[in-house]
Amino acid sequence: MKILVINSGSSSIKYQLLDMDTENILVSGLVERIGEEKAVLTSKINPGNETEKIIKIQTAIADHKSGMKKVVSLLVDKDNGVISNTSEIRGVGHRVVHGGEFFHEPAPLTDKVIKGIEANVPLAPLHNPANLDGIHVARELFPAAQQVAVFDTAFHQSMPPHAFLYAIPYKLYEQDRIRRYGFHGTSHKFVAGECARHLDRPLEQCNLITIHLGNGCSMAAVKEGRSVDTSLGMTPLEGLIMGTRSGDIDPALHAILHRSRGMNIEEIDAMLNRQSGLKGLCGMNDMRDIHAARRNGDKMAQLAFDMFVYRIKKYIGQYFAVLGRVDALVFTAGIGENDSETRRAVLSGLKALHIIIDSRANEKSYVDWMRISDSKSRVEVLVIRTNEELEIARQTLKTLT
Ligand code: AMP
Repeated sequence: MKILVINSGSSSIKYQLLDMDTENILVSGLVERIGEEKAVLTSKINPGNETEKIIKIQTAIADHKSGMKKVVSLLVDKDNGVISNTSEIRGVGHRVVHGGEFFHEPAPLTDKVIKGIEANVPLAPLHNPANLDGIHVARELFPAAQQVAVFDTAFHQSMPPHAFLYAIPYKLYEQDRIRRYGFHGTSHKFVAGECARHLDRPLEQCNLITIHLGNGCSMAAVKEGRSVDTSLGMTPLEGLIMGTRSGDIDPALHAILHRSRGMNIEEIDAMLNRQSGLKGLCGMNDMRDIHAARRNGDKMAQLAFDMFVYRIKKYIGQYFAVLGRVDALVFTAGIGENDSETRRAVLSGLKALHIIIDSRANEKSYVDWMRISDSKSRVEVLVIRTNEELEIARQTLKTLT
């Protein structure tokens, strides 16, 4: 059975067509710079296989609908297509960033669900409208398929109130739904499930700390398979230090910056989201550049790295206390999957928590996952490549009626 996964952004559409009998990716692609003269559609047929074929088209693409139409014509193309008709696609899974408190599970896209996503636009003003664009277009272009929304916030809806509430007047939660929601839920859910499989234990019996370190970074405390706390908050700004986002700060900084520098709320918001984090500290937000600079003696790059690692360690300590017993730590996403140096720094000095790294295993290359804990470590440490598209496809498949 074929499932199409769509991640629709403000000027881009990422997509994957999967054969769910084998979980193989038939096509993965990206439409970039929608709305510009020189939009680019890149399509990879049989990605990662010996038979991989890449098609790149540069052309003006006015909107999401024309972009998706081009994708469809490539999917059914006589020479390079992988399906003969769009009706071969049984389900379309849409990544939706904010499900608010309405959505704890993937939802078949009825008009009521679309209204629910619209109602959450104030919580994700940049993301949800772009996700809705993709949904409207896909409903039109794949009328035979069932459309399903998979929410980035849903996995964290199992958090208890003492973890998701902020200590501010309660009426702000009651009236405006101000609370922690958390994000990267699809990734945390995927790696938690894979980790349980590799530990050969039901997920419901696993207590895990999942560490997603990409351009955006977050951690989750997973108790008996369910998220009970996470580091991103009402928005994707709280928690760990990220590429350009500050993570945790004293909320009084807003008032201080306003009074001392006359900065307005938009400027402070932009600064914390786009000019802070690793970039704000050392001018670079790609961890590879930061390592190269550290090796050349750049003190600010070293400080930024030390702060990044320190914050993760603090959250590991917190989540240990929250969970009581931890079976495994899981590293994932761009930095977590590829950067042995960050993993080594995060895991150093954690013997008191019964976490001991196998330094040699940590340096090895791997395909989907590897274990990097020493045999003496009571807590297992795994590195697992996240696969949000596959998780969305799996959840879509489960939701089909
Ligand atoms: P993601 O958001 O998961 O795609 O992760 C992107 C980030 O991963 C980049 O900004 C880099 O900082 C980081 N990254 C990717 N590959 C590597 C690598 N080989 N070593 C260190 N960091 C990496």
